[in-house]
Amino acid sequence: MGILHSEIKGRPSADQDKIVIGHRGAAGYLPEHTIAGYALGYALKADYLEPDLVMTKDEVLICLHDIYLESTTDVEQVFPGRHRDDGHWYAIDFTRSEIKELAVHERCRSDGTPYFPSRFPVGESHFAVPTFAEMIALVQGLNESTGRNVGIYPELKRPAWHAQAGHPLEKELLDVLRAYGYFEPEARIYVQCFAPDTLHELHRMEPELPLIQLISESQSSAWMWTEKGLDTIAVYAAGIGPAKVIIEADPTVVNRAHACGLVVHPYTFRRDQLPDKYPRFRAELEQFYFEYGVDGLFTDFPDVAAAVLAERRKGV
Ligand code: CA
Repeated sequence: MGILHSEIKGRPSADQDKIVIGHRGAAGYLPEHTIAGYALGYALKADYLEPDLVMTKDEVLICLHDIYLESTTDVEQVFPGRHRDDGHWYAIDFTRSEIKELAVHERCRSDGTPYFPSRFPVGESHFAVPTFAEMIALVQGLNESTGRNVGIYPELKRPAWHAQAGHPLEKELLDVLRAYGYFEPEARIYVQCFAPDTLHELHRMEPELPLIQLISESQSSAWMWTEKGLDTIAVYAAGIGPAKVIIEADPTVVNRAHACGLVVHPYTFRRDQLPDKYPRFRAELEQFYFEYGVDGLFTDFPDVAAAVLAERRKGV
């Protein structure tokens, strides 16, 4: 199965094997989950690119963070009246071709103001919602033209909700991965999800697929970073993706996960959302990579993380 030697379970990564995961592409610079954003994340030296996945009415996996369309697209203008009674425009109520009519913009609050005001201006240029297959074709095309081997790191969003709506995500995910060669030996792939049940099921269906158990900082997830919890996760997953505050609160989580054979890829590192304790963004990245000893991290600014790793490897 397609994990590289350096990423084999059970070994904390040496500096040269640590990875950068382009969070939603290169969300610090271009609207999240767009072909342009993924291409930029690739160019900014991400080792893996992250698509979040939800499903359309006609059962196509698309790259979108929310199960709703209105926070990152102009769906309110293009399809007024197509929202449900709760005021949300659900991706699952629209076909692929309808969703292709939408323009993607920087993530906004319901009053239209951007979450990150210093990022790409809202509504400028033109971006569309990619399908998962289009995202993969981009990454694999760039792998051809550059000779690099950048991986993909898809996240299944709200799998129980999709199953209840009659459109389960798991089989379609595996079909797309199989069609694009992600079960071949040289493939670089991790699949991430917050839901343990979904990961269990994926592990049952494809035992060799490297899975990452995402862990939120909520109290309901606290069992996951106990000794017993990590042991349980190691049965079906290759690693954990904890909220970074979990590691800040208890850095021993990293060594304990490694002892269970799990890699550790915390989220999310943002230059424009820097915790007060760090004087500079680089200081936060260095702390996690080299002091806490994580194997990789999710960041909106892959260029900065790649530079931190490159300098360390050169001994600068
Ligand atoms: Ca995600």
